[in-house]
Amino acid sequence: MCGIFGVITNQDNISLGNVVLEGIKRLEYRGYDSCGVVSLSNSKLYIKKDSGKIEEIQKRIDLAEIPNNSKLALAHTRWATHGKPTRINSHPHSDCSNKIAVVHNGIIENFIELRKALSERGHIFKSDTDTEVIPHLIEIKMKEGLDFKESVVETLKLLTGAYALAVCHVDYPDSIIVARKESPLVIGIIEGKTTYCASDIPAFLPLTRKCYIMDDDELAILKAGEVEFINLKTNEKIEKELKTIDWSIDAAEKGGYEHFMLKEIYEEPTAMKRTMKISKDLLRIFANILWSAENIYITAAGTSFYASLAGKFIISRFLGKYIQAIECSEFQTQLFNSLKNESVIIAVSQSGETIDTIEAIRWAKSKRNVKILTITNVVGSSLTRYSDHVIVTQAGPEIGVAATKTYNTQVLTLALIAIEIAKLRKIELESEIEKYEKALEETPQIIENFLKNNVDSIKDVVNTLEKSVNFFILARGISIATAKEGGLKLKEVACRFIEGYSAAHAKHGPISLVREGFPIIFIAPPDETYQRLIGNVMEFKARGGKIISLVVENDKYISDLSNISIRIPQPGNKYYNIFSPITFTPALQLLAYYAALLHGLDPDKPLNLSKTVTVH
Ligand code: GLU
Repeated sequence: MCGIFGVITNQDNISLGNVVLEGIKRLEYRGYDSCGVVSLSNSKLYIKKDSGKIEEIQKRIDLAEIPNNSKLALAHTRWATHGKPTRINSHPHSDCSNKIAVVHNGIIENFIELRKALSERGHIFKSDTDTEVIPHLIEIKMKEGLDFKESVVETLKLLTGAYALAVCHVDYPDSIIVARKESPLVIGIIEGKTTYCASDIPAFLPLTRKCYIMDDDELAILKAGEVEFINLKTNEKIEKELKTIDWSIDAAEKGGYEHFMLKEIYEEPTAMKRTMKISKDLLRIFANILWSAENIYITAAGTSFYASLAGKFIISRFLGKYIQAIECSEFQTQLFNSLKNESVIIAVSQSGETIDTIEAIRWAKSKRNVKILTITNVVGSSLTRYSDHVIVTQAGPEIGVAATKTYNTQVLTLALIAIEIAKLRKIELESEIEKYEKALEETPQIIENFLKNNVDSIKDVVNTLEKSVNFFILARGISIATAKEGGLKLKEVACRFIEGYSAAHAKHGPISLVREGFPIIFIAPPDETYQRLIGNVMEFKARGGKIISLVVENDKYISDLSNISIRIPQPGNKYYNIFSPITFTPALQLLAYYAALLHGLDPDKPLNLSKTVTVH
C-alpha cells in the first residue's frame, strides 16, 4: 500500500513543487519507505526520488524544487511490496526512452512473465519492482502507433492484479492519465483551473473540497480544471457525480472514522482480499518445507503470538504434525539444549522489527542449521534479513497501536499455507479440500457482513459490561487463541484486566472469582468442543455468571443459555469453524474499541505501548 498524488494546473501563481510535496506528505500514513516526484518541462521528465521518510529525504534533496514552467507533477510515497525500499525501487518509474513516468499503488501479479517478455524485446529494467513493467508496456504501445490514452488502455488489458496508477508523458504535457482497479483513487478539482489525483481525499482537502471518487475499472484523463472518465469495460465515457466533502482534515485522514483503530477494523475485508493474492508458488514453498520438516516451531510476541496459536492449530490439522508455539522471548530458554538440527522455525512479526523475535531467530541460527520462514507486514524489515523465505502480508500500514487488520492477515496467511499443505498431502478428498478453500475465501465477506449488520450487538455488550472491572473470555480448542487475542485487545485499549482463558481450565482456579452477575464471554463456534463448552457454560451459569456468547448465525443451544449473544453471520460447519479465529476476532476488536470509548480512552494511543517493540 502506498500513496499517490498528482496535480495539473493552468495557473501561474501556484508553487507546484510545494503543492505536490504537501500533498504527498498528507499520504505518508499509507507508507513511508521511499518517496519520489516527477514533473515535466521542455519535453523532459524531471524525476527526484530516494529511500526514507519524506522529511529525511528533504534534508538531502529538495523534492519541491521542480522546473518553473512545469504545470504537471506526480508524486509517490512507497510501501514496498516488490523489491527492497531502495532509491532505485522508489517510484516514479520510467520507460527506456525516459518519456513516460508512472506512479503505482498495488501489485501487478503477472509482472514476472511481462518482465521476461519485455526483456526479450530488449527493454532494460532499472528496478526490482512489479510497477516498472507498466511504463515499458505503454512505450511499446506508443511505438505501435497508438496515442497516449489508447496505449494506457491497451496496457491495462495486459495487467492482472491491483492498481491505482497515474501516468504522464513528455509529449502530452497537458494530461495525466489515471486508472483504478482494487486500489483507491480520488480526483479533486478546482473547475477550469486545477485537477488533483490522490490515493485518499486528505491529500487535496486543504486545496479543494470538490471531488470524484473513482470506481474499479475506470480510467480518467485529467487536464487543468477538467476531467473525463471512461469505463474500461465498455470503453465508453461516463458521467460521475461531483461530491462536496465536508469532513475536517483530521477526520478525512481517518477516512471519516473517529479513530484509526476503527478504520483499520473496517479495512480488514480489503486487507484480507489483498493477502489472498499472495503468490501460490511462495505458499507452496512454505508448505513443502513444513511437510518435510521433523521439528517445527512457531514464534512471535503479543498479537502475532495469538495469530500464531490460531495458525499453528490450523496448519497442524492439515499437516498431521505437532507445531510447538513458543513466545519469542522464551525461545532461547525453552530450547536451550533441545533445539535440533534441521528444525523449521516460523517467525511472525507485524513490523519485522520485534527485537525478541529477531533475537530468537539469530540465536537459533547461531546454534543449529535451521530454516527460518517469516511472515511479516513489512518488506525489507530486519527479520527478513535472517530468513530463508518471507511472506509479506498485505494489510497495508497499520497506524492504531493495537494490531487489528494485521492479526487477521497473519492468521489468513497461515491458513493459506495450511490449504497448500492439504493439497500436497492429499490427506482429504479433493472435493473436501475445495470446501475448506471456499470457506477461507469467504472469510472477508463474512467480516464485511458482520461489520455492516451486527455492530449494534457489540454496543449492547459494551453497555452491559460497563461496570465490570474484570471478566473472562473463555473458549476451548482453536478458540482459545481467539479468547486470548480478545483479552489482549481489551487490556491494550480499554485498560481492563480481561483474561482470555481455556474454558476447561477455568474450573481449576479462576471460577472462584465468579459471583452473581460476573460476566463471562464464551467463544462458541459449533466445532468438536461445542458440547463440552455447553457444560462449561452451565458451570458458570450455576454460580450466577452473566453469560455473553459469540456464536454463529444459526446457533441454538449456547445462545439459549446466554444473557446476550453476538452472532457472526457464517455457516456453522467444520469447513468454516476452523477459520473462526479470523471471522470471530473482529467482534472482540470492536468490543475493545467501544469499551475504550466508554471509559474515555483514546483507542489509537493506549497507555505505555508502542507499535513496534524494539527493546528486550
Ligand atoms: N508494488 C509496488 C512496489 O512495490 C507498489 C507498492 C504499493 O502499492 O505499496 O513498488
